[in-house]
Amino acid sequence: MARLGRTNLDVYKLGLGGIPLQKLSPAEAAAVIQASIEGGINFAETAEGYGDSEEKLSLALKGRRDSFVIATKSPKRSGVEMARVIDQSLARLQTDYIDIYQVHYPTTEESLRQVMAPGGALEALKAARASGKIRFIGISGHRPNLLVKALKTGEFDTVQVPINAGHCEARDELLPLAQAMDIGIIAMKPVAGGTLDTPSLGIRFCLDSAADVVLVGMKSVAEVRENLETARSFTPLDPDEEEQLLAEVSQWGDNFCRRCEYCQPCPHDVPIPKILWISNFYKRDQGNDPWTVEEYASLKVTAAACEECGECEAKCPYELPIRDMLKEADRELRVSSGELAKRRIKKAVKKIIPLRRRPV
Ligand code: SF4
Ligand code: SF4
Repeated sequence: MARLGRTNLDVYKLGLGGIPLQKLSPAEAAAVIQASIEGGINFAETAEGYGDSEEKLSLALKGRRDSFVIATKSPKRSGVEMARVIDQSLARLQTDYIDIYQVHYPTTEESLRQVMAPGGALEALKAARASGKIRFIGISGHRPNLLVKALKTGEFDTVQVPINAGHCEARDELLPLAQAMDIGIIAMKPVAGGTLDTPSLGIRFCLDSAADVVLVGMKSVAEVRENLETARSFTPLDPDEEEQLLAEVSQWGDNFCRRCEYCQPCPHDVPIPKILWISNFYKRDQGNDPWTVEEYASLKVTAAACEECGECEAKCPYELPIRDMLKEADRELRVSSGELAKRRIKKAVKKIIPLRRRPV
């Protein structure tokens, strides 16, 4: 167990990330949460915007609320809106207190200023803390420099930031500052949104950082058990493993989608993270793996539906040129229906031939 900075909360080194819960059925989510609890996890982090993940968490934690640390968050900037969403989170979580409520995702100096200004979100969070609705105030974001400015105000008890082999700028200034100020450090995205080939390497990389707790989004009981085993048997990466991880990350390039999903929803239902994820695999295999075009062809909405409104780019914390990336993905991945049929036949034939060769 680790002490989460000045909150003095005791948390297991692995925490449950709430994003995937919204995509699971209630039974699947309950099984993932149950397996996490059985393995010693006592911290879950979610957001008012992560679909029904707060509700699913509350159902699974019925009767054992007090043995669990719950953190949630909202990107609301005004005090009035923040006060409203805190009450909504309390209702969805079916609890009368939330351990940590975080300011979610300030992307610009201006958005941070709005949060901190009179009448801003921070004021509502402090009022909620004074009335016992929340216990601690945290901040979560993708821009270490901005988070440094936020922490220097002294208003935050915890900070949540991505830490992975391809995104570890937080190590330069943010993490030492948080440690010096006794602010709890919550690491997220250890496997870069599911992109790393070997998740255990990413988790171990992150466990070896200054983080008090490492959040991992888990979609199945098997994943929970695997990740718990990684945490239990933790050793720092050896030089060969470090090289393997860095070699993989070096292939990502500048325009790499971390699958944080902040660009969603698109007004035209373009599944941006999914398309950029497929495109990433396509590039990595230089188009040799037919799975990528098959997967793209199976999407209900493809990049061709993009109307180039730019809404997604304004929300992307990594300032990715999403519109251009989508155009490129569509160029690479879209094949004619005739070509697709040919590929499918080729794949089916490959499957049949070994069957025929089997001795009778
Ligand atoms: S630019 Fe395209 S993908 Fe992005 S939000 Fe607009 S329509 Fe959706
Ligand atoms: S495009 Fe940007 S906002 Fe969308 S998932 Fe990727 S990194 Fe996140």
